[in-house]
Amino acid sequence: MSTRPLPTIGIVSLGCPKALVDSERILTRLRAEGYAITPSYDKADAVIVNTCGFLDSARAESLEAIGEAMNENGRVIVTGCMGVDATTIRRIFPGVLAITGPHQYEAVVQAVHDAVPPDANPLTSLVPPQGIRLTPRHYAYLKISEGCDHACAFCIIPQLRGPQVSRPAAKILAEAEAPADAGAQELLVIAQDTSAYGQDIGHAASTWRGRPVRAHIVDLAEALGELGIWIRLHYVYPTREADDLMPLIVDGAILPYLDMPFQHASASVLKAMRRPGNHDRLLDRIHHWRNQVPNLALRSTFIVGFPGETDTDFETLLDFLKRAELDRVGCFKYENVAGAPANSLDNHIPEDIKEQRWHRFMQTQQDVSARRMAAKVGTRIDVIIDEVDDEGAIGRSYADAPDIDGAVFLNGDTDVAVGDIVEIEVEHAEDYDLWGTRPED
Ligand code: SF4
Repeated sequence: MSTRPLPTIGIVSLGCPKALVDSERILTRLRAEGYAITPSYDKADAVIVNTCGFLDSARAESLEAIGEAMNENGRVIVTGCMGVDATTIRRIFPGVLAITGPHQYEAVVQAVHDAVPPDANPLTSLVPPQGIRLTPRHYAYLKISEGCDHACAFCIIPQLRGPQVSRPAAKILAEAEAPADAGAQELLVIAQDTSAYGQDIGHAASTWRGRPVRAHIVDLAEALGELGIWIRLHYVYPTREADDLMPLIVDGAILPYLDMPFQHASASVLKAMRRPGNHDRLLDRIHHWRNQVPNLALRSTFIVGFPGETDTDFETLLDFLKRAELDRVGCFKYENVAGAPANSLDNHIPEDIKEQRWHRFMQTQQDVSARRMAAKVGTRIDVIIDEVDDEGAIGRSYADAPDIDGAVFLNGDTDVAVGDIVEIEVEHAEDYDLWGTRPED
């Protein structure tokens, strides 16, 4: 057998979980073709940089990552959202080997073939059935559609990624079975708007386990629930679909967790953002859900300092935060994004006001979070273990998605393994994290 080393590719994946899923698909395909994957620059024959082009700060981070890969390795293929701005990338880094946009898997793979020809030995062309994952083995992301049919004024994703294209339910479910069979304990369902899943294909049914499953988020979530592992939904819109998910949460088919980016609560700002909802309507919905699911964990993101946001709009937002009692919240100061309609709106907010509003927002939410976390002391919760070392274990509860939410610390508990789900009694809480131990009984 040939002893020639395998052609080896490195990858740097920036941006959102959706980009991470793109990276996984590219790697799965390359691995199936016999490429080795390395986390280090110096062992790679070429490096793929999967970029994010959403905010100006993300573009800067992407350019920095490309620069680092150029310096450390020199043979670089750029893909992802920032790839649509090939002119800028070429101007700064004329030596990059190829540039492709988001979801252009074929083009990325072709660029890799051109830069580093594949090994012809079929014995190396083996890939585990669950594919190659950039996430640890105990959880996996599941992308159910590409693109977006909305037109939020601050966003260029629909321009970058095109209109929504949903995958058939049976394909998604088959893809979900692979990590579940390989031991994953948690699936994180993602799309630009998870609740709109299937609208573009008329919610057409496809056959899974001998029965039809509609391409609709409620039907899909119900079927995913049959896998018997944690199912966590991200990027759900506050629409009727969310109402219809509540019975599934009550039944335990999916986690009592919804990641729902509200972005604002003032009707006039939401209108300028071209998004639905207003303070009272959103609060009514949240109360309605919590009546059915009292332990529902809600995560959301907001933008402060959107053009035209008045002091009154901002106070409406703070009032919403206090009343909505959200569990997990991210907040961004508004930034122009090249090509986004919001850039041309009147009354852009000065940076110092954005900064002040951001601090007031974060302080308000910190108080809410501290109160909600303190209320968990003395209760028992299930925790999925993410890390174990000599000093103990770190995990997450149903209310914590990986990387973006809080953590649960099991100090001194080394008798668990990554991926275990264990019950703990909460003994201590801080603003965002919990501490606890496994009860004796
Ligand atoms: S829902 Fe709005 S913010 Fe999200 S991707 Fe679509 S247009 Fe962008």
